[in-house]
Amino acid sequence: MVLRFLPVIVIVGLILYVILLNKSAQKKEPKFITMPLPGDRKAVAMPPFGVYIEKDVENDEKIIKHEKCHWRQYQDKGLIDYYKEYFKLNSQYDYQDNPMEQECFLAEMA
Ligand SMILES: [Zn+2]
Repeated sequence: MVLRFLPVIVIVGLILYVILLNKSAQKKEPKFITMPLPGDRKAVAMPPFGVYIEKDVENDEKIIKHEKCHWRQYQDKGLIDYYKEYFKLNSQYDYQDNPMEQECFLAEMA
């Protein structure tokens, strides 16, 4: 009987986990998690979990500044609006021209 509801329990649990994690993560600096990433990306900000970064660039100042900029965007906009706006702009612009990326390219130079 309980097994029948297991998928629902797992999904509700995951949603609650993300909501609670988001509450604390939005107030803090990102956690940097070193791991291999698929494709050409060297790092990616994934609020509210943290910033995933490849080992060979984990001390790269420019990349860290870039990803911290995305984290600030998340802190300013909130979790849902951060992803909504990012993917909306991503569909309108190339990666390099996405205004949210442009802001973080500038932050790399700060
Ligand atoms: Zn970026």
